[in-house]
Amino acid sequence: MIIKNAKLYGQDEFVHIEIHGDKIHKLLPFETPVESSGHEIMDLNGKIVLPPFVEPHIHLDYALTAGTPKWNQSGTLFEGIQLWSERKQLVKETKADVKKRAKEALEMQIKHGVQHVRTHVDITEPNFTGLEALLEVKQELKPWVDVQIVAFPQEGIYAYPKGAALLEEALKMGADAVGGIPHYEFTREDGVQSVKKALDLAYKYDKLVDIHCDEIDDEQSRFVEVLAAEAYKLDMGELVTASHTTAMGSYNDAYATKLFKLLKKSNINFVSLPKANLHLQGRIDSYPKRRGLTRVKELKEAGMNVCFGLDSIMDPWYPLGDGNLLRVVEMGLHASHMTGYNDIKTALNLVTENGAKTLHIAEGYGVKEGNKANLVVLDTTSEYDAIRRLPPVIYSIRNGHIIAETKPAVTTINEPIFS
Ligand SMILES: [Zn+2]
Repeated sequence: MIIKNAKLYGQDEFVHIEIHGDKIHKLLPFETPVESSGHEIMDLNGKIVLPPFVEPHIHLDYALTAGTPKWNQSGTLFEGIQLWSERKQLVKETKADVKKRAKEALEMQIKHGVQHVRTHVDITEPNFTGLEALLEVKQELKPWVDVQIVAFPQEGIYAYPKGAALLEEALKMGADAVGGIPHYEFTREDGVQSVKKALDLAYKYDKLVDIHCDEIDDEQSRFVEVLAAEAYKLDMGELVTASHTTAMGSYNDAYATKLFKLLKKSNINFVSLPKANLHLQGRIDSYPKRRGLTRVKELKEAGMNVCFGLDSIMDPWYPLGDGNLLRVVEMGLHASHMTGYNDIKTALNLVTENGAKTLHIAEGYGVKEGNKANLVVLDTTSEYDAIRRLPPVIYSIRNGHIIAETKPAVTTINEPIFS
């Protein structure tokens, strides 16, 4: 197949993408005649082609559970954790139940051009129902999406009985990454110890690390410095991710300036979850209310790797979510004051290549000769318009096959209004 007149994201020249089997064989210059090549031709008329979207942080085991048995009334993270803990006792779900919800959530993301997903899964439950379910989903949905699984101790490595042992067992069962939640542990000392434990386990089992780090408005929550320092000492920075780090939005500038030097040196990755954290943070504030996001703009300007994720699709922490990362980008740009022209024009890097770097899959990712024929086509010819209008992904192509397509809506205004 030849995808004709494609505008690669961030480039001005059009190219023709020649696909052989599951690989991108060649990127042909615009002048190359392709009509008589004998290949099937798809003409994009200058529409934008990107590598598939990357969801760096979602909780598939929680998806579509909002309101069962109760809705989160306060809108806080801590009520969410409490509700989930109660739900685990009350609703005894089978592996099949979890798989059904996870697949529904993934289907929403696949329809929006996502082909790489990092999901956390709660392992603070002794039966590992969620983990077993997601390990199976990962295998079963391979033709549509790559799933990476983080063993996530939702109720703490030390605050939950035998949390550390459960975490280690989850890694042995096949989780790809080690999680943690230091700000939820009982004491600062336990929090520090939990970060060290996560890195030790990752080192021992050769896994990635993704910590729910400082997801609180407390300016004294400073576990990201521990995570960065330990990652630096073990030379594991690029394997390590700090998710949320919302307390950073409340740090004083003197401390933040010092911290940034360490963060930069450590080379760790950052995931910001604009929708979830605008919803969850600032709940205990009166006025002014904090936005509760990490310092996305400043991290980016300091040359660190930041990406955006959704976090939730209808769960005890966040009641909305449809799997569309474009909407996350739109909200994230507003919330981070990243609405300058260049920020808008390059914004989709936050949910493509930056996410790929975070997931440690950057090698082989991208619309390049020799890579897998994995790409998405947006219904627009302009990077700027992609953020302004949030056009649909008209094609999602994986291993050379169209796995999802959307027919754009057409709206007309009837006469005589404008006649
Ligand atoms: Zn999360």
